[in-house]
Amino acid sequence: MTRPVTARVPAKVNVQLAVGGLRPDGFHDLANVFLAVGLHDEVTATAADTLRITVEGADAGQVPLDHTNLAARAAVALAERHGITPGVHLHIAKDIPVAGGMAGGSADAAGALLACDALWGTKATRDELLDICADLGSDIPFSLVGGAALGRGRGELLTPLETGGTFHWVFAVADGGLSTPAVYRECDRLREASGAGAGAADVPDPEPSPALLDALRAGDATALAAAVSNDLQPAALSLRPALAATLRAGADAGALASLVSGSGPTCAFLAKDPEAAQAVADALAASGTCRTVRTTSGPVPGARLVDA
Ligand code: ATP
Repeated sequence: MTRPVTARVPAKVNVQLAVGGLRPDGFHDLANVFLAVGLHDEVTATAADTLRITVEGADAGQVPLDHTNLAARAAVALAERHGITPGVHLHIAKDIPVAGGMAGGSADAAGALLACDALWGTKATRDELLDICADLGSDIPFSLVGGAALGRGRGELLTPLETGGTFHWVFAVADGGLSTPAVYRECDRLREASGAGAGAADVPDPEPSPALLDALRAGDATALAAAVSNDLQPAALSLRPALAATLRAGADAGALASLVSGSGPTCAFLAKDPEAAQAVADALAASGTCRTVRTTSGPVPGARLVDA
């Protein structure tokens, strides 16, 4: 009997999320600068007759256990390409907040792909794995690659980025999630309401910030803090006004930068070193403005197989 295989996959924070206008196909062009950070999900694949998903962790109750689970969809996509039956039990040990704007579902998809590929001996090439990831969702290729990268298109066309050091982060996890499509819809609605329009002709093409890329390359947290931006933040705040108090609490505690992570509602705080991060985390925990606080750092590597 084949031994179970475990993949470990990081969460991400978007240090820049520039959102273009609404395209006719319903997507938005993005300039999306991803940084993989050290919160991880682990996906263990065990041989089974049929596809089955189990989940453990504080947010386990919010994760679907049927074929809509992104890990299940990844396993089915790999099996279909290789003409095999997706017989596997996928167990997800979930540490990444669910629907938190940190690509937890994407991480599980990338992990399931890697683990199933090893379990089934399908020997998919890196390009094939990246292809399947891009088919399944815009953030999934980055979960596989990790480190730091610029995503163009819907975010799936990745260019790896050089980073000159480690950045220290605090994440304030909110009660309940935010739906990513709902946040994009709210972004479009706010743009329409402002009179500027929300279409591709109305909104400037999204471009990566040269100052931000320089700051990443230099490993300069202060410069990075000055350059971070998230075009989805007004929409996340509009849908969840209480996040303003969370952002303020982190800023008051000395965070170099305070921003909503991706589509939220997790808020991300950049600190100059681990001690400053701990001080921000303590202040956030005491503020009563979030459910949980996590400190970590990045960049970290993407999805990897680990010894179970
Ligand atoms: P992103 O940052 O990529 O926009 P997110 O971190 O905000 O995503 P996810 O944790 O990926 O959000 O979950 C979004 C929704 O996807 C959940 O509400 C859940 O219904 C569904 N989902 C499907 N598969 C998974 C999975 N393996 N883990 C978590 N959620 C999943």
